[in-house]
Amino acid sequence: MRKVLIGTGIAVLFAATLLLGGCRGAYVGSSMSHRYHDPDCMWAKELPRDRQVWFATIDEAVAADYEPCSTCTPDVVTE
Ligand SMILES: [Zn+2]
Repeated sequence: MRKVLIGTGIAVLFAATLLLGGCRGAYVGSSMSHRYHDPDCMWAKELPRDRQVWFATIDEAVAADYEPCSTCTPDVVTE
């Protein structure tokens, strides 16, 4: 019974994290490297939360002196 309760707690925490993470911006930058990423980028996923800087637009990232990541190339529009 106790195990079930812990499992439910983790699931709720995980859902809350996803929910909060889903509305923070379109691009995520690293306050360490001063590069910004597509949130799906492998490097973005490695970013610790306290190093994440979120931008709504590329202009915003550039204005903050951030450069595009060379792996996910967030500045290249692919449609
Ligand atoms: Zn990237």
